[in-house]
Amino acid sequence: MIEVFRHAGRSNLNFRDVVGGAHSRPLTKSKNPKVQDIVRQVVAGKAYIAIAITEPDVGTNVPGMKSTSKKVDGGYLISGKKLYNARLEQATHVIIFTQGTTGKVGELSVFVLPIDTPGLKIEHLSAHGLTGNSYGGLTFENVFVPEDYLIGTDGKGAEIFSEHFLYWRLMQAAAAIGTGEDALRQMADRLKSREAFGAPIGRFTHLQQPIGQHSIELRMAFSLAKEAAEQIDSGDYRGARAVICGLKAEGVEIALKAVDAATRAFGGEGYSTKVDLGDRLRDLNGLRIADGTTDVMRMEVVRWLYGKEFWEMAIEGKK
Ligand SMILES: Cc1cc2nc3c(=O)[nH]c(=O)nc-3n(C[C@H](O)[C@H](O)[C@H](O)COP(=O)(O)OP(=O)(O)OC[C@H]3O[C@@H](n4cnc5c(N)ncnc54)[C@H](O)[C@@H]3O)c2cc1C
Repeated sequence: MIEVFRHAGRSNLNFRDVVGGAHSRPLTKSKNPKVQDIVRQVVAGKAYIAIAITEPDVGTNVPGMKSTSKKVDGGYLISGKKLYNARLEQATHVIIFTQGTTGKVGELSVFVLPIDTPGLKIEHLSAHGLTGNSYGGLTFENVFVPEDYLIGTDGKGAEIFSEHFLYWRLMQAAAAIGTGEDALRQMADRLKSREAFGAPIGRFTHLQQPIGQHSIELRMAFSLAKEAAEQIDSGDYRGARAVICGLKAEGVEIALKAVDAATRAFGGEGYSTKVDLGDRLRDLNGLRIADGTTDVMRMEVVRWLYGKEFWEMAIEGKK
């Protein structure tokens, strides 16, 4: 799978959703036939799943989200507002995270709803990149969700979040690596074909240097990504989390540097839409934020490799 995401990224970062089926994976946590039927629809290319976690006032601090759920006869009433969510205008279904009904902040619940459920209001925002999908928000006030559409256990949603996003971050890193690799291929071709002052610009060794540096950095990242994918395949999500968070950060950042170098080697053409390098830059900038920002992913690496006291020191001001 990781090779497929890398390959998709080489062509266009938006293609990562085609192979990934977007956020359908959490649905496999449900044994309910109605939810399993949605997964079958995804496999048949008839359903597409958005995920709504981020809110206007709460993003990185997922456990502190404000959306709520309340137990009622036959299901739940959910209320809240989500913002900066992709895919809502293309999706057939949306996975919504809320606080669970246990009353303890951070004990989250996860629901899947058809996107046309009465009471779900979609808001559109224009975005700078990753334009293959929409970008916007979702408002819902006392929307009834039947029991069947609770994913996993009420209050245990954080575990679903954590497992799904380890997988998803790893695949985003692989797609970003592919995006950077193809930019370097374009750059190498350009160095051979473009002449300045009567000879190929490839004679300027400062233009060769980034190809040498970033191609190996990207390969190093991909080797590590394959190791992490094997860990996930063996079910060792805990063991893989530091490396995956690190790859989500560094895979995207290295790819950005590679694309930036390629863009500059194309001169004025690099700034035009004759080449796709500008799109690659904007798409990677989106990925730098989506699914956990680079800064936060680096904090996660320190937390999981050196101890959670570092996270507590930073976030809770603990001594
Ligand atoms: C292209 C794109 C697609 C997206 N798709 C979705 C989607 O489908 N569904 C969805 O729910 N959300 C989606 N998001 C939202 C995204 O997940 C959040 O924007 C992201 O998690 C950051 O949250 P925030 O915007 O609230 O930033 P904040 O959490 O407010 O962070 C603001 C700044 O503070 C820094 N920061 C915050 N906490 C820490 C910390 N602990 N340590 C160090 N630095 C910190 C951040 O790095 C950032 O620079 C998408 C975003 C983008 C750009």
